[in-house]
Amino acid sequence: MSEPSTAAEATPARTDFIRNIVREDLASGKHGHINTRFPPEPNGYLHLGHSKSICLNFGIAAEFGGHCNLRFDDTNPEKEDLEYVEAIKADVRWLGFEWHELRHASDYFEVLYLAAEQLIRDGKAFVCDLSAEEVRQYRGSLTEPGRESPFRNRSVEENLDLFRRMRAGEFADGARTLRAKIDMASGNINLRDPALYRIKKVSHQATGDAWPIYPMYDYAHALSDAIEGITHSLCTLEFEDHRPLYDWAVDHVRLHERPELLKPLTDKGVPNEAAKPRQIEFSRLNINYTVMSKRKLLALVNERLVAGWDDPRMPTLQGIRRRGVPPEALHLLAERVGISKQNSVIDFSVFEGCIRDVLDAKAERRMAVIDPIKVTITNLPEGHRETLRFANHPKDESKGQRDVPFSNALWIEREDFMETPVKGFHRLVPGGEVRLRGAGILKCDAVIKDGDAVVELHCTLDPESRPGMEGANRKVKGTIHWVCGNAGIKAEVRLYDRLFSVENPDNDEGGKTYRDHLNPDSVRVVTGYIEPAAAVLANESAVQFERLGYFAAERYDHAAERPVFNRTVTLRDSWAAKGA
Ligand code: ATP
Ligand code: MG
Repeated sequence: MSEPSTAAEATPARTDFIRNIVREDLASGKHGHINTRFPPEPNGYLHLGHSKSICLNFGIAAEFGGHCNLRFDDTNPEKEDLEYVEAIKADVRWLGFEWHELRHASDYFEVLYLAAEQLIRDGKAFVCDLSAEEVRQYRGSLTEPGRESPFRNRSVEENLDLFRRMRAGEFADGARTLRAKIDMASGNINLRDPALYRIKKVSHQATGDAWPIYPMYDYAHALSDAIEGITHSLCTLEFEDHRPLYDWAVDHVRLHERPELLKPLTDKGVPNEAAKPRQIEFSRLNINYTVMSKRKLLALVNERLVAGWDDPRMPTLQGIRRRGVPPEALHLLAERVGISKQNSVIDFSVFEGCIRDVLDAKAERRMAVIDPIKVTITNLPEGHRETLRFANHPKDESKGQRDVPFSNALWIEREDFMETPVKGFHRLVPGGEVRLRGAGILKCDAVIKDGDAVVELHCTLDPESRPGMEGANRKVKGTIHWVCGNAGIKAEVRLYDRLFSVENPDNDEGGKTYRDHLNPDSVRVVTGYIEPAAAVLANESAVQFERLGYFAAERYDHAAERPVFNRTVTLRDSWAAKGA
């Protein structure tokens, strides 16, 4: 995202309360340069919700000529994995963003440790021997103040000695913590002497066995922001109550005034901008008919309720991508949803609308028949072959044209024929006429059946209705799509729908969980026929199969000789009609 000025000229400047703060801070000279970061924990795959945060952080950096880092918040080693790190990097790039620097909270472990020793020397932190359970008992409640730990008044020397021994690995997991000395009576429970470090003898995916102690999230996050000179630390609303602790850590460590604490980085030649960051919270993206917590998505994968992290029904960016959603649709969603402090649930149809709007402009058109019934045109000679020319896009000539083979044998969609038509059915019926898209007007003369099942239609094509002929524009009520019965290519088509059948799958009334609300029709795999120009599409190409929906050539399984397509989204919202 290199040329913010041209982007700003092309589209009206976006406004929301965060962008307004950024504008004011630039105008007032508080900051000469904006730095943001996207800070995922590598404990799962990114989901739709993360795309809001990514678009915001990288978007602001691009719009205001600033920088955005990708920083892995890797302070919880037992849940983290390199597999996630790599997938997250790929996802951010797929969204079209490039980070200024790739950082890890673990890059700063040495600095964070030195800063903690400094807090001890300043009388702002102490080593506490209370067990986790005792800490809970001492913490108090929303209505009652907590009690001070009996270890709170240890001397600086004793604290330093114990903390160094924690670091040396002398104590068992959970035996001791380093705690901030703040206020056990604070109305904000996060300020009741929160833990800064815990003992955890677990290998870390980046630092291996170098550390038997790990910093807590709030401490590590605040100081990581400070080290990187993040000016605006944007996070979701649940961190609002953590902001006083964030500020406490920044203000008491004062990295920006204490270059000596940053020596481990400067020694390694790692740039730091050490400044005082400001945390600003915005509301999470919530969408109905889905769940969006890494923990729950992990459970779906582990319990084999979906095929994997990149199952096209998953709200993970990997799943969404595989389904065929273009990254531009996520940018559009972020724009339409906007940034505010109001929590809300966005209707799934808003997301689907973004996909349709982007794909309508972008996807080439092709024809496919996914529930085929055979048509023989009896007034064309056996073995008749011809090639028609079709535009690839109805509104965009620059997308060119393609050859579409046509013959005396065709496939049409089973639902485009009704032997005993219901009122208002305007497609093919015995003795009736229908327009074959771009090929002429077809009349059904005979229905060939096997028992009750219709197996073939014998039809005639009005020769005067062929393309370029006098009668080509003769009016008939319906138009249907088709695929050549000779040149058409067999294809596997995976028809995906929403993963959950209820608006709020997290609703646990009646002891149910989201597992009980899975949509049994969320995938249906069928075999159909596609025109040759669809089979040769590259993996992940988006295409509109006329009248059927938007599809994508399967990212992994599609090949020209064995085509596989995923349905990304139907052409219209079929859920609104269900009154769901
Ligand atoms: P989850 O709750 O799904 O596990 P998380 O918040 O723990 O997600 P992180 O890896 O900590 O995931 O998130 C990285 C960044 O993405 C954070 O700044 C977080 O606030 C943001 N984020 C996560 N979920 C959403 C969401 N639904 N909408 C907007 N931003 C989100
Ligand atoms: Mg988290």
